[in-house]
Amino acid sequence: MVQVLIVAIYLFGSAAAGGAVGLFAGLPAGAFVGATLFLFALQMQAGHGARKQKRHAAREIANLKRANAAIEIALHETHDAMEEMNKAIEARASAQGQKIVAELQVLESLMREFAGRISDKAKAETPPALEPHAADGARTYLDTLGEPELLETIRASLEENRVDLYLQPIVSLPQRKLRYYEALSRLRAEDGSVIMPAQYIKIAAPAGLMSVVDNLLLFRCVQIVRRLTQKHRDIGVFCNISGDTLTDAEFFPQFLDYMQHNRDLAGQIVFEFGQDALVKAGAKGEENLAFLASLGFALSMDHVDTLALDFARLKKMMPEPRTELQSLNPYTLLVAVVLSAQATDKGVNKATAPLFKIADTPEKMVALGVEKLTGYIKTIGLYRNKAKNVIALSKLLIERHGGAVPRTREELEALPGAGRKTANVVLNVAFGEKTIAVDTHIFRVCNRTNLAPGKNVLAVELGLEKKVPDTYKLHAHHWLILHGRYTCVARKPLCPTCVVRDLCRYKDKTKEVELRGKKPG
Ligand code: SF4
Repeated sequence: MVQVLIVAIYLFGSAAAGGAVGLFAGLPAGAFVGATLFLFALQMQAGHGARKQKRHAAREIANLKRANAAIEIALHETHDAMEEMNKAIEARASAQGQKIVAELQVLESLMREFAGRISDKAKAETPPALEPHAADGARTYLDTLGEPELLETIRASLEENRVDLYLQPIVSLPQRKLRYYEALSRLRAEDGSVIMPAQYIKIAAPAGLMSVVDNLLLFRCVQIVRRLTQKHRDIGVFCNISGDTLTDAEFFPQFLDYMQHNRDLAGQIVFEFGQDALVKAGAKGEENLAFLASLGFALSMDHVDTLALDFARLKKMMPEPRTELQSLNPYTLLVAVVLSAQATDKGVNKATAPLFKIADTPEKMVALGVEKLTGYIKTIGLYRNKAKNVIALSKLLIERHGGAVPRTREELEALPGAGRKTANVVLNVAFGEKTIAVDTHIFRVCNRTNLAPGKNVLAVELGLEKKVPDTYKLHAHHWLILHGRYTCVARKPLCPTCVVRDLCRYKDKTKEVELRGKKPG
C-alpha cells in the first residue's frame, strides 16, 4: 500500500514537472522530462529498498552468529559437565569395585581358612560327650543324630556355607523405637532343619570351629549394616563374637584389618563378648579389643556373672598406688617384706628407717650381724627369728646371686624367711611384674565381695589371676590392700562410703545408721 502511494507520488510529481516543461518547451520535451523523472524516481526507490533489505539481512546474520556462539558455549559447558560426571562415575565405580574386591578377598581367605580348619581339625576331632538335648517339642531330624553325625552335619553346613544370619530387633522403652538389631547365626542342616546355637556351640567350640562361624557372621554383619545404614543411620547391630575367635591368631588380625577398612560403620556396629570369654582372652584379647575401640567401635559384654568389684573405680580413687612399706632398693624392700610378716607396715617402717641408713646392702647387713640387727628390729613381732632369717638370706644373696636380688619366683622363695607372698611383692614392686600377693586384707575383700572367693590365700591368688583384667594386674595388689586396710576393714566395713558397694555381694554390709558417729578412713 505504501509502495503504491509512493509510486503515485512519483508519478504525480514527474507529471507536474513534465507539464511545466511542456508549457515552455513543447509537449514532447515535457513528456520526455516527466518520463525521465519518473523512471529516475523509481530507480532511486528500488535502490533504497535494496539497501534496506541488505541492512536487515546483515542484522539477521549477526543475530544468527550470536545465537551460534551461545550454542557453542553451551555445548562446551555440557561437554565439560559430562566429562566431570563421567570421571565421578568412574571414580565411584572404581572405589566400589575396590571395596567389592577387598570384600571378596576377605571372603575368599575366610573360605580357604574354613577348608583348612575343617579338614585339619574337625575331621580329626572326636566329638565331645554331650548331655542329651532337651526335647523341645516334636523330635526333629537333628534329634535323631548322634554326636559324631551332628559334628559331621555342622562341618557340612559350614563347608557349604549354610550359615544364616538372624536379626533380632532391640527397642528402646517406653517409645518402643527400634534402636538395634542383635545379629544371631543359625546353621542349616542338609534337610533344611535349623541348628540352634545351643546345639552347635557345644560341638563346634571344642572342635575349633567357632571362629569359622563367627567369620561368616561378621562378614555378613558388615554387609547388612552397610545396607541398613543407607536408610537409617541411627540403627546399629550387635555382633556376637566367641572367645575363641577373639584370640584366634590367624583370623583376628585379618578381621581387624577388614574393620579398619570399614571404620565408617563404627557408630553402627557393637561387638559383643561374653564376660567369661573376655577374662579367658587375657592380654592378647585386650590388645585386640583396644584396637577395635581405637577404630571407634563400641564394645559390649554379656553373660556377666561377676561384677563384684570394679578396678576402674579403685583406680580413680588411687591412680598410682604404692606399697606403704618404705625401702631404698630391691634388697631393702626384700628385707622389709620379710620383716612385715604378722606386723604392720607402720611398725616395720619405724624400725627400718634407722636400720637402712647403716645397712642397705647384703654385705653391710652381714657385717652388722644378728645381734646388732636384733636391737634395731626388737619392736617387731617374732624379731629374733626374723633377724636370723635376714642375715641368712643376705649371706645367700652374696653367695648365690652376687649380692643382687633374684628376679624369679623360685629363687626368691628359696631365700630364708621368704615365701610366695614375699616373692610376689618383690616381683611386683621391685621388678614391675603383674603378680598379686594375697595378704589378710586381700583375702578378706575377695571373699566378702565374691570377687575371688577361696579357702586359702593360694586359691584367692589363683582366682584373682583369672578374674583381674590384665590392664589392672600390676596395681591390683595395692588397690585391694588399701581398700581392705582403709574401707573394707575387718570389724565394721565402711560400706556406705565404699565405691563398689553397688557391686559388692557381701550380705552383711554395714548400714549407714550403724556408722553414725564413726569417722570414715
Ligand atoms: S566395704 Fe562393704 S561394700 Fe565395700 S567391699 Fe567391703 S563389704 Fe563390700
